[in-house]
Amino acid sequence: MTAAPAAPHGRFAPSPSGPLHLGSVVTAVASWLEARRHGGRWSVRIEDIDTQRARAGAADAILRELERLGLHWDGPVLYQHTRLDAYRAALAALARTDAVYACSCSRRDAGAGPYPGTCRARGLAWQPGRALRLHVPATVLEVPDRLQGKYRQDLGRECGDFVLWRADGDPAYHLAVVVDDAWQAITDIVRGADLLDSTPRQVFLQTCLGLPTPTYCHLPLVLDDDGRKLSKQTADTALAAAPAGAVLATALEFLGHPVPPSLRGAQPPVLLAWALEHWSLLRVAAASRRVCLAGPGAPG
Ligand code: GLU
Repeated sequence: MTAAPAAPHGRFAPSPSGPLHLGSVVTAVASWLEARRHGGRWSVRIEDIDTQRARAGAADAILRELERLGLHWDGPVLYQHTRLDAYRAALAALARTDAVYACSCSRRDAGAGPYPGTCRARGLAWQPGRALRLHVPATVLEVPDRLQGKYRQDLGRECGDFVLWRADGDPAYHLAVVVDDAWQAITDIVRGADLLDSTPRQVFLQTCLGLPTPTYCHLPLVLDDDGRKLSKQTADTALAAAPAGAVLATALEFLGHPVPPSLRGAQPPVLLAWALEHWSLLRVAAASRRVCLAGPGAPG
């Protein structure tokens, strides 16, 4: 007899840089449904290590909004600022392979494209004001994505040696996310497509650290009227002001699951129960890519 596949463990990992906007609600709803639909767990992790972007009160506001939307999580919320020792341990493990080096390049020196490896052979000591980078060999990685298909990236050429620890003293996002996904035993990552091109770097880090690779599913992005991704830093308060049912219905519509007219005005538990019954990534893939919250014709 073959063992039944283990239930998935999904997560929502917002940075507390401002209140949730429709794009982050879409991610929260889709990752919640994908985990719960298969009887799995769903965790929330507050990615608050980027001290330059974190805004006071934003984490609590995000958690209150998730509760208002009926998106209840399992276990305690994980705050990345409590995990610095784990990131330091992972950094030390990588440094033992001699693939880590200190870099004194400013953002301007490093340029906008892949880092050219300027400091790789300089043997600089690590000191405040210097970043630590990982030497990335010429490697083409192909990551299967449940919505986007196979995503290929030539890591050496398209990313170059990337930062593990920032010059301002904070751990870099890629290192923290990989360490925490493994520590929390996350099996299914559902997040916005803006992070698709980060995924090969994260898979590479998992391999270097001997950590398992979860499955990935990158959702279409909610864009503003000018075709730009919404950002928590610029989001207005329209979302918190809108009724929870309307916010959920709008997110579900974006995800290809328009709620039936009989459920217009329904409360979150009713809408989420309906969504659980109908949830399918095929419908997400086929969905139209743009909706407008509370615009003309927005569901009640
Ligand atoms: N903290 C990231 C954000 O808010 C998401 C990270 C992830 O899902 O891996 O955009």
